[in-house]
Amino acid sequence: MSVTLEAAPVSPSRTVGVRIWTVATAPAAAVPYDEAYAVLDASERARLAGMRRVGDRMRYLAIHHAFRTLLGRRLGVSAEEVSFRRHCGKCREDGHGKPRPVGPDGTDLSASLSHSGAYALIAVSDTPGVEVGVDIERVRPHMDWSAIPCVEGGRTTHGFEQWTRAEALVKAAGTGLSRTPPRYTGRVFGAWRAATVPHSAQEWYVRSVRCPDGYAASVASASADTRVSTASWRS
Ligand SMILES: [Zn+2]
Repeated sequence: MSVTLEAAPVSPSRTVGVRIWTVATAPAAAVPYDEAYAVLDASERARLAGMRRVGDRMRYLAIHHAFRTLLGRRLGVSAEEVSFRRHCGKCREDGHGKPRPVGPDGTDLSASLSHSGAYALIAVSDTPGVEVGVDIERVRPHMDWSAIPCVEGGRTTHGFEQWTRAEALVKAAGTGLSRTPPRYTGRVFGAWRAATVPHSAQEWYVRSVRCPDGYAASVASASADTRVSTASWRS
């Protein structure tokens, strides 16, 4: 018996690609201060000026230099030409909430940034409009979990993994943390688990991300059909 396989109809792939870079922020001196400072905008420079510790300032510079450089490459512009428009996923107003990277011609990106300890993670979606959120936490003992949001409905109520999942979901949705944490719906798509986020009407998807020893990290996406690739950032 012979079986004839028909070619699948050619259609544009709807798979979303999310690239995640791990940025090592120590030694922070890896980025020249002047070069990094030059790409910051006024509000970033104000943030920097408010940091009293030299280590915090150097880390902030290293992270935002990497963030702007990566975003600029994606937008085809220089790092300092990237600007950020804020949009709130909760009240749907502009001017506050999640920062959206925008190029000079108005092209925007879905991106997310998180840092903890000696590392930062930067996630960029290749599909504008498909929001992403990323979170990394350094694993440390003696946490008071009563004050920490974790995704409800999972078998493990607490833990750094669940904490990063909750944060990644809320960052993707752009709603800001509320008293009610995200909740798993029970639906699973490969490595992705579906969840609802308070003040967001749509379903979100979250999974763990490979990260350095001693850290936990998660990424969330608006699409269950999202392929994640990881890389280490070298400036
Ligand atoms: Zn708002």
